[in-house]
Amino acid sequence: MEALLWTTAIVVAIALGMSYPGWRLRRALAQPFPPAWRDILERNIPIYQRMQPDLQAQLQRLVQQFLFQKKFVGCEGLEVDDEIRVTIAGQACLLLLNRFTRVYRKLHTILVYPSAFLVPRNHADDAGIVHPARQELLGESWVDGRVVLSWDHVQRGAGDWTDGQNVVLHEFAHQLDSESGSNNGAPFLGHPGSYRNWSEVLSRDFNNLRHEAMFHRQSVLDHYGAVSPAEFFAVATETFFEKPWQMAERHAELYEQFQQYYRVDPREWLAPPQPEPLFDEPEPPASYGTVYGQWR
Ligand SMILES: [Zn+2]
Repeated sequence: MEALLWTTAIVVAIALGMSYPGWRLRRALAQPFPPAWRDILERNIPIYQRMQPDLQAQLQRLVQQFLFQKKFVGCEGLEVDDEIRVTIAGQACLLLLNRFTRVYRKLHTILVYPSAFLVPRNHADDAGIVHPARQELLGESWVDGRVVLSWDHVQRGAGDWTDGQNVVLHEFAHQLDSESGSNNGAPFLGHPGSYRNWSEVLSRDFNNLRHEAMFHRQSVLDHYGAVSPAEFFAVATETFFEKPWQMAERHAELYEQFQQYYRVDPREWLAPPQPEPLFDEPEPPASYGTVYGQWR
């Protein structure tokens, strides 16, 4: 009898232990969204105010879950406050709208530097000799569940929602990519039949971008996407959310693939761009001048 009581007590304790995290999350999500956080979304993410109320509510819930589950760490003396946390979470969660998915299940920590940060990178010269070097980065995404960001560039990326440059969207697209098990530009698409179309369209447009980059031709997608299929997916994600009209016009099939994957149409939140003057020399594509982190 005593043994049975002990067994029951252990089973109950295990069951409670397993359900406790879920209970804490449900309790956190039951709290009303703080008005101060809503003000930050309105102030720092220009498209938020143009979203339908149901989508705004979805984003708020995702932000609550993100902030409940992920840890933020300030680097080089940066003090992480709600402005930083909500601005980053709000943009990261745009990639999860309308989808049945967990909130970046592998991610646990976001490290935030005040500005671009230096990382050690070995450099091989023409003779194959490896030299220690340091490289300046704006963001980095690690498969072990960490994202590193420059707060300065997070603000710049959100401040101009028309240039196709957004370090948060970029690095969190890498996180989605890694959830499928390999970083190859093919995130988890759900239906097995979706991969064939995805592969066909993305391979073709990736090769076209490599060609455009090689000959320094202007393109809607930033030339950094020509580095690898993983970078192509991350760059195309930035373009999809920030330059949807241009992407839909110049890369119709690619836009369609991204629309199916992200389950939103960012054209609903942004006005079509003004046509460029006919006889002016086109401006070269804007660039930060430094690069995003590479995969490892
Ligand atoms: Zn990247």
